[in-house]
Amino acid sequence: MQIENIKKNLLSTLSEDFYVYPDSFRFTEDFACFILKDSHEKYLGVIGPEKIHKKIGLGSQFGRDISIESINGFIIKFFKRNDKNLKKLLNIFPELNPSPLGVNTSFGFGDRLGLANAAHIKVIKKRKEVLPVLAQQSVRELLKTEKDFKTIVAQSTWNILQEGYQGKWGADADHIKDEEYFIKAVEAGMTMFTLDTLEYLDEAVLNMTSSMVKSNYDLSTGYIKRIKKQYLDKKIELDGNKLYFNEDILIRLALIYGEALEFTQDIFQFLSGRLNRFDFEVSFDETNTTTTPEAHYFIVNEMRRSNIDFTSLALRFPGTFEKGIDYLGDIDEFDRSIKIHGIICRKLGNYKLSLHSGSDKFSIYPSFARNTQGVFHIKTSGTSWLEAVRVVASIDPPFFRELFTIAMDSFDENKKVYHLNLDKDILPTSIKEVADKELSGLIDDRDLRRVFHIAYGAILEKEKERLMKLLLENEQKHYEYLLKNFKKHFDAL
Ligand SMILES: [Zn+2]
Repeated sequence: MQIENIKKNLLSTLSEDFYVYPDSFRFTEDFACFILKDSHEKYLGVIGPEKIHKKIGLGSQFGRDISIESINGFIIKFFKRNDKNLKKLLNIFPELNPSPLGVNTSFGFGDRLGLANAAHIKVIKKRKEVLPVLAQQSVRELLKTEKDFKTIVAQSTWNILQEGYQGKWGADADHIKDEEYFIKAVEAGMTMFTLDTLEYLDEAVLNMTSSMVKSNYDLSTGYIKRIKKQYLDKKIELDGNKLYFNEDILIRLALIYGEALEFTQDIFQFLSGRLNRFDFEVSFDETNTTTTPEAHYFIVNEMRRSNIDFTSLALRFPGTFEKGIDYLGDIDEFDRSIKIHGIICRKLGNYKLSLHSGSDKFSIYPSFARNTQGVFHIKTSGTSWLEAVRVVASIDPPFFRELFTIAMDSFDENKKVYHLNLDKDILPTSIKEVADKELSGLIDDRDLRRVFHIAYGAILEKEKERLMKLLLENEQKHYEYLLKNFKKHFDAL
């Protein structure tokens, strides 16, 4: 097919009624597809001879066919972007499917609305050293956005089609705590599975004296004996850093992590029984206490012993990782901590350290990137949602004021599932005094960012349609805000 000829012809034929996404053209030998939109919706366009249209067999046609004058017998047809049509396209372009990314440097772009990934792809096209994880949602996010894994994979794929992305990408079932959601994630074609071990960690032991530990736990089990035999009084020297496993440290590690590691093994076996290749992330990040170097070494060593082939590991670093705002804590302390974790990671090898709640952690990104030597995974999500809210603030002030009311009214409820150190008493009760043109600046306020961050469920429940419409109508602005935001993220790395 004469690619440039078709593209030019098409853009001029359609420009009156549609916007055609210029990067979306995807060609085979005998047809091409592309994405376009009118003022209401986006569609899939296909150009080719009639017999090819028949062969592809897409359904749910929209509007009438247009024949291309300059190419005899070629017809443009328009279709709804639905799951059936996507499935047919995936048979033709299997490279559109997500795949495991292994230990390559990667970045997670959660997209709660299914609209932001297009901008994320624009960012990634300029940063080819980083592979994107596009469909990334936790169960908490799925419930609040009323989506499932299948939907988020489909939405990311449509975004990829729109932006003409050709590289690899991952789909992350984030913070999964039980088998039920692993089954759903496998069925939906997710490629990365993040296990949340929190419910199996026994942190109580950290607040006990040695004698309390002895009286509260049975330390004569085979497991404890095996651990002692393997690690007791072991001294490990890593680039001048010493790890030491005395009896007290060791028994606490065994008690804190023992069950979580068993659970990890169960889940790993479950996944390996169903998939040949997948990325497996094990997360210990939502604990109350910082992961010690000894704990890091112990966890990895134990997982290797159980043949758990994991790709990335999320540890709990010092400081506070609140959603959607910069790091709160002592940057030097973080630096010291990630330095030794980075050394351990390289020594034990073949996995990457993962930073969760990575939205806007600008002040620690340089240290994280340096100390992991660029081999890392970072997850963001809330920061993209906040850019959508910023679009509302700049385009439709009265609507933004309504969203503020929803966010404030639902604050106590939202806070139940998101732990944040933010007292309602210090928040503004009204933004009546704020001038319209100042509203978008509120999205930079550290407290209001968190208020809106956790309010997405409540906002979508009440105003989803209106919000989506506004974002579609102001898509370029939405992308522009996202690009600006992620430039800041990537510049800090
Ligand atoms: Zn996490």
